[in-house]
Amino acid sequence: MAVPRLFVEAPLVAGAAVPLEEGQARYLTAVMRLAPGAPVRVFNGMDGEWAATLAQAGKRGASLSIGAQTRTQTAPPDLTLLFAPVKRHGTDLIVEKATELGVRTLQPVLTRRTVSETVRLERLRAIAIEAAEQTERLDVPEIAAPLPLHRILDGWDGERPLVYADEAADDPSAAWGGAQGRARPVGEALRDVRAPALALLTGPEGGFDAEERRLLRSLPYVVPVSLGPRILRAGTAVIAALAVIQSSWGDW
Ligand code: SAH
Repeated sequence: MAVPRLFVEAPLVAGAAVPLEEGQARYLTAVMRLAPGAPVRVFNGMDGEWAATLAQAGKRGASLSIGAQTRTQTAPPDLTLLFAPVKRHGTDLIVEKATELGVRTLQPVLTRRTVSETVRLERLRAIAIEAAEQTERLDVPEIAAPLPLHRILDGWDGERPLVYADEAADDPSAAWGGAQGRARPVGEALRDVRAPALALLTGPEGGFDAEERRLLRSLPYVVPVSLGPRILRAGTAVIAALAVIQSSWGDW
């Protein structure tokens, strides 16, 4: 059986005793059925990964005794995902998959057609922690509070290319805008991108509106990309684009 891996907030040093949250204590004792002395692995996003043992487990909670460091801290590539929140399940999926795929920072973006504006940051953080635990990451992506698209663009650092997933084109009378003004295929567009930091922007179920699209495509740091001739659901677009970005620019 694999040794359980947990994220904790506490600093990790040899010999420390780290109290566990109720949910984690229950998971180790009731679900995994670990007894005191059983091995556990822990990370906190700052101090790498450590071997630990379940020190005490009882009615008043459980704690870990920290042993030796097993991995030193590393950071994933400086990749930010800007995503329009979608219906609850869709947003959960985006956060989980972006964590698995190695995004460092997640920024929910409110666009004109964003319908689900309530973002439960604590819930999303819990999803990111769980994904980080199981995916062997040493950090948990930061999830920022939602911001309107124009605010994000106003404060943008032009050194960071913004890869914009744009399924549309320019002819209003044709389906998806016809052929004129299509973005370049993502793999091809990324070949020219050498920057040390990158961001990906994806839209809501209804896409970006014409004005947002015009604005985005007028900005010098925006790299519009196509993810192929099919219209993908928002979550699929995130996963597909991240896979290409990580393999051509990132750490795959
Ligand atoms: N415009 C559509 C669909 C939006 S799909 C509509 O009106 O219903 C949701 C988001 O996924 C888009 O905003 C875009 O960022 C991304 N996306 C989906 N399919 C894509 C493709 N083939 N190429 C580029 N981006 C795509």
